[in-house]
Amino acid sequence: MPRAFLSYSFKISIVCICSYFFCSAAGAQSLKLHRQSAPLLHTFVEVKVYGDNQTQTIPSQVFREMERVNALLNNYDATSDISSINAAAGKKAVLIHQDTFNALSNALNYSAITNGAFDFTVGPLIELWGFSREHPGLSGPDPDDQTISRVQRLVDYRALELKSDSKGPYAILKNKGMRIDVGAFAKGFIADTAINFMRARNISSALVAAGGTICALGTKPDGQPWMIGIRHPRNEGTFLTVIPLHDQSVSTSGDYETFYVKGGKRRTHIIDPRTGMPVSTIQSATVIAPYGSASDALSTALFVMGPKDGLDLIEQLPGFEALMVSADGDVVFSSGWPQKTITY
Ligand code: AMP
Ligand code: MG
Repeated sequence: MPRAFLSYSFKISIVCICSYFFCSAAGAQSLKLHRQSAPLLHTFVEVKVYGDNQTQTIPSQVFREMERVNALLNNYDATSDISSINAAAGKKAVLIHQDTFNALSNALNYSAITNGAFDFTVGPLIELWGFSREHPGLSGPDPDDQTISRVQRLVDYRALELKSDSKGPYAILKNKGMRIDVGAFAKGFIADTAINFMRARNISSALVAAGGTICALGTKPDGQPWMIGIRHPRNEGTFLTVIPLHDQSVSTSGDYETFYVKGGKRRTHIIDPRTGMPVSTIQSATVIAPYGSASDALSTALFVMGPKDGLDLIEQLPGFEALMVSADGDVVFSSGWPQKTITY
C-alpha cells in the first residue's frame, strides 16, 4: 500500500515548549494565539500565529497553502508533479509548477554541497530496503550485494535536469527506473512556504511545526525567542536540550522515526546512497538553519555523513549549527550551538 494511505506517524522530534505563555510586554497583551493542527505530510503539522482578531483565519489559510504545495510534491500521490517526473523517468521532460521547480532546485543544491550524502533520488533504495510500504520491513532475505549495486546505480541527483522555456519550468530524470523521494526535504520546504505566506500578510510572530522540522517567524510576542525542546533519541518525552529560535528553523532526523528490527539490529529509514545501505551509526542529527528547507535537507545529510564530516560541513556554513548523537550515545555539537548543557 502506498504511503499516502498510511496511518500517520505522530513521533515528534522537536517541540515548542512555550505553547501556553502569557504576553507580558507592553502592547503584546492584545495579541491572541490562533492555532490549528492536522495530519499532513505523513506527520502531524501545527501552526501557531499571534495576532489580532483579524488574523483568526490565518492558520486555516496556511493549511490550505501547505496542502496545495503538498499536492505538487507528494511522491505517494500519483497526480503530483513529482510522481509525473518519476513516471516519465528516462523518457521525457515534464512541465512542472514553479513551486516544484524551486523545491527541486533547493534539493539539488543540498545534494551538491553534501556530495550526495543527501540525494533526493534515493527512492529505489528506499523501496529496496522496505521503507516505502505500510509496515516497513523486508518479507524475504536481505538484498545481495549485486542487487544493492544495481539499484544504487539508479540513485544520482546529477541525473535530474531542470530547465525553463516560454511554457514554464520542466524537469527530467535522465534514466529509466529513477525515482525522486521527497521525504527528507518536503516538510521543510512546505513549512517555509507557510512562513512566507504569513510574512506576506504582515504576521510577525508565528511557528510552524511539521514533524521533525520547526520554523519560527520572528519571536514570541514578548520579544523573547521561541524555546524549542530537542527530543532525546531514546527516551521519548524527555529533551536532550532546549534551544532558542528566532527567525530560524530546526530539524531533527532520528533513527526512532521509522525503523524495523532485523537480526536484532535496528534498521532505519535513512539510506547512505554511497553504500546503498541503511545508516546504523547515528541516533539523531539536528540542524539549525535560516530556512526549513535547509535544516530539513541537512539534518538528513548529517545523519548520513556522521559526526566528523557532518560538523566539518556545518562549520563552513554561516548561520548553521548542528548537534549529533552517535549510536553509542556520544553527543557532539558545532562551535556555535546555542545551548551547551546537554543531558543524554
Ligand atoms: P528526514 O526525517 O527528514 O531525515 O527524512 C527521512 C526520509 O528521507 C526517509 O524516510 C526517506 O524518504 C528519505 N531519505 C532516506 N535517505 C535519504 C538520503 N540519503 N537522501 C535523501 N533522502 C533520504
Ligand atoms: Mg530531512
